[in-house]
Amino acid sequence: MSVKIIGRAAWGAKPWDNDPRSDGPAYVPLSSRREFFVHYDGAHHVGRTGYAVPRAIEAQHLAQGWSGVGYHFVVDQAGNIYEGRGWTRTGAHCPGFNVSGIGVQIAVGGDQEPSEAALAACRALYDEACQRTGRTLAKRGHRDGIATLCPGPRLYAWVQAGMPAKGYQPPTGGTAPTGVARYQVTINGLPYGYGAEGSHVTRVGEALVAKGHGDAYEVGPGPKWSDADTKNYAAYQRSLGFSGDDADGVPGESSLRSLLGTLPGKTTTAKPKPKPKPPAFPGRSAFGPGKRNANVTRLGEALVAKGYGRFYKVGPGPSWSNADRNAVRAFQRAQGWTGADADGYPGPETWRRLVA
Ligand SMILES: [Zn+2]
Repeated sequence: MSVKIIGRAAWGAKPWDNDPRSDGPAYVPLSSRREFFVHYDGAHHVGRTGYAVPRAIEAQHLAQGWSGVGYHFVVDQAGNIYEGRGWTRTGAHCPGFNVSGIGVQIAVGGDQEPSEAALAACRALYDEACQRTGRTLAKRGHRDGIATLCPGPRLYAWVQAGMPAKGYQPPTGGTAPTGVARYQVTINGLPYGYGAEGSHVTRVGEALVAKGHGDAYEVGPGPKWSDADTKNYAAYQRSLGFSGDDADGVPGESSLRSLLGTLPGKTTTAKPKPKPKPPAFPGRSAFGPGKRNANVTRLGEALVAKGYGRFYKVGPGPSWSNADRNAVRAFQRAQGWTGADADGYPGPETWRRLVA
């Protein structure tokens, strides 16, 4: 089993470059990797947890004009690993080393103490990186690559000490560090999995004991999710017939529901948003050479959304262009229309199918 990485889609990453048409950062083969760089978040303590951790970094890096999170991975204090650039894209974490170096941020700042879970996760990621690249990557702190305080005194000392992690055995023969899944999921607004806390965690533990799956508890179940909870939950999942990743001890909705009867948490009855009224056809006179208005932009954006973006070298924008006409014509022909119905100028039916 390899390390569990929470993928970009799972934590809600925006499209690369905040643009669905972007292919994202360039491909880098694993064979190009030589170093493993550790980073911290900066001067200030990090109080965020969960998906908010990579999302905050993403917002900052997008605002800097980068394609998205610049690190290859981000590790939070619970030991969750979030995918940034991932294994095979160029990074934006250390000038001169963005191709050869895999950059990992441990989400602490200043003199904040990194948790054992975070260090173990980062170490597991390092071992996984060595396994995937087939070489022993050099252990580096950001300041080994460029003049910076990063990764701060604590993490830098840790890197220089060889990245030790308490209770963590480097994998032999591809087995997991602890063999116990350490990531969290959110079900009905509540967290489950290693490090999750709350009375709902106690409730899960008590239900597991009641069903005869309490073997891993040395003391009784409590409000903080531990490896023992994960092991017991895995036994319960196996009893339901789940296997593989589905029986890794981190709850899914169906096993949780069958364990507890109902799902804890707030049942939010979100009011359905009233659908905005589609814009009415503005009339044929809105389109054509020399015309400039918001409906031209709206039409162009709808064409791009429907897969006709190839006609636009720039834009779409408010000024009618040949690109608009060619895109409209291609769309009209794709409807099976011919002659005047496929003249590249939108009529009410083209508008309705594209925009409304
Ligand atoms: Zn750094």
